Amino acid sequence: MIDRPSDAVLTLTLPDGSERTVAPGTLPSEVVKSIGERLFQAAVAVEVNGVIQDLVTPLRSGGTFRVLTDRDPRALDVLRHSAAHVLATAVRRLRPDAKIGFGPSIEEGFYYDFEVAEPFTPEDLTAFENEMRKVTAEKYPFVRDEVNRAQAQRRFADDPLKLERLSELGDDEIISTYTDGPFVDLCRGPHVPDTSRLKHFKLTHTAGAYWRGDSKRQMLQRIYGTAFFKKEDLDAYLTRIEEARKRDHRVLGKQLDLFMMHPAAPGAVFWTERGTTVYNTLLAFIRERQRDDFQEIKTPLLYNKALWEISGHWGKYRENMFLVLDNETKEHDFSLKPMNCPSHYLLYQSKKHSYRELPLRYVTFDVLHRNEVTGALSGLVRVRQFQQDDCHVFLAESQITQEVHFLLRFILDYYQTFGLTAKLKFATRPEVRVGTDEMWDRAETSLRAALEATGMEYELKAGDGAFYGPKIDFDVLDSIGRPWQLGTIQLDYSNPERFDLTYVGEDNNAHRPVIIHRAVSGSLERFIAILIEHFAGAFPVWLAPEQVRVLPITDEYRSYAERVTKTLHDAGVRVHLDARSETLKYRVAEGARMKVPYMLVVGRREAEQGTVAVNVRGAGKEQKPNAVPLDEFVARVLEENRTRSLVLSAQG
Ligand SMILES: [Zn+2]
Ligand SMILES: [Zn+2]
Repeated sequence: MIDRPSDAVLTLTLPDGSERTVAPGTLPSEVVKSIGERLFQAAVAVEVNGVIQDLVTPLRSGGTFRVLTDRDPRALDVLRHSAAHVLATAVRRLRPDAKIGFGPSIEEGFYYDFEVAEPFTPEDLTAFENEMRKVTAEKYPFVRDEVNRAQAQRRFADDPLKLERLSELGDDEIISTYTDGPFVDLCRGPHVPDTSRLKHFKLTHTAGAYWRGDSKRQMLQRIYGTAFFKKEDLDAYLTRIEEARKRDHRVLGKQLDLFMMHPAAPGAVFWTERGTTVYNTLLAFIRERQRDDFQEIKTPLLYNKALWEISGHWGKYRENMFLVLDNETKEHDFSLKPMNCPSHYLLYQSKKHSYRELPLRYVTFDVLHRNEVTGALSGLVRVRQFQQDDCHVFLAESQITQEVHFLLRFILDYYQTFGLTAKLKFATRPEVRVGTDEMWDRAETSLRAALEATGMEYELKAGDGAFYGPKIDFDVLDSIGRPWQLGTIQLDYSNPERFDLTYVGEDNNAHRPVIIHRAVSGSLERFIAILIEHFAGAFPVWLAPEQVRVLPITDEYRSYAERVTKTLHDAGVRVHLDARSETLKYRVAEGARMKVPYMLVVGRREAEQGTVAVNVRGAGKEQKPNAVPLDEFVARVLEENRTRSLVLSAQG
């Protein structure tokens, strides 16, 4: 091995193709300055051979060299990580007792973890944010120092969390610290040149977080915030999270009296009458959609381990299953099913099948249980007990393209009913997989052909497929543009082998079918959470638990109101009468809070003419309720329900 000569040079290739040679250890800031002073003023960081580093980290290798300004989205991470340091600077000024943990940039901003005796209050957060403004005004440069272990240990003698991290760094790793004004952190960087670069930021919330994410270690206080280069971007982000907060399904679920959770059954949902109505309406809709081309079946909830051993779940998935004691063997040899797939294979296997029956599509809505850790549970989005609109298609390999096309259309039409748009992702063979390369070639080619036939754009996720086959995933965008992963179409060549599934072909010989796993809504619980947030609780008529509310102006018109209510009820409309002795204004406000699509106000004129005054949800104060003949209103609501209209049109 030859030592690198001390006069070695690094060659940097700039975006215009020109080259610079510099000595190893040169600071990028010097290079940028030599390109131009204006560029230097605008520079946030540089990218050397694809790696982002800051202007004060010595160059150790040559290669492509690009300057990142605030116009480059990748510079945002650098700004946000610097914002985390500014936050820590502010916290340590106001709370010198706070011990520091980690402070990285994250997807939507940054956080910093602190060890303090008491959780931070909203007032603390405001004070920290104000102090951060001072730190940015004071324009401290981020100064990088490369130190040895002993120096670092001295510097962080009062910060046990940092010392712990330090002890894990290998002997050959460069130990660096960053200082901005009074604050110094053990940190690899990169950082913006100085604290004044941070202009548009906001601390958003706090949460408890275990040190190193380990529930056996101490609980730290994590402060979350976000930062942007432009004020418009920050404002748009804050509006979006405010909008998301207003739509939170846990809050709306309570307000609209849809469901509750109880510590007696962690991760399982108690649906109220109204919530159950939404659930059943959704289920009826899916059943109707699947009446023609699918076979609905029901299979047991509890199985002995013999099945899970064949399916492979006993070895790989057992900690996610709820095991049940077998009274005879006195062992936990039974389990509640976490998925329907193996039970569908058993039913398929029980009969002889001809190629003429294929594709054969089994659907099931049975209750499933998965033993999620309690910390991961969240409203309806992450639960332990749920139902899926689960389907397994058994088909001949030659039918894949056509079948995938059919399923794709089915899924996209389904989403469209709710006004949800979908993005497709195509995931191909992973590193660890079963089956031959030839099989994967065929499977991927068929799936891709079906995808291309739709003419829709898709994102290629190379290597992201299931171990048993490639798949198409559906990311659905809700009304405020948030993506949710919902449906899936997965090809499976493995389970037909494991379960020895066959069909009799045209040639009278036994053949292996292929399986497609298909979900549309995923879990219905989670899908309802998405719908609540997507519609902000204002369900279209066909999904609304209460479609119409009837309000007599005074008790005098109660009997007419009762007649109106009965007429609607008999026609199949979900209607309630609110004839309480509260003022009309109060009752209207109450109906609006419950987001009832239509409120019918009835008084003397309506009673005399056999009409109803229609108050449409969301039409605002200016609306003049229109008097409509009762039978006409009934017909319009029924039509809206039948067509699953997304707009309220049953006005006068
Ligand atoms: Zn840092
Ligand atoms: Zn499945």
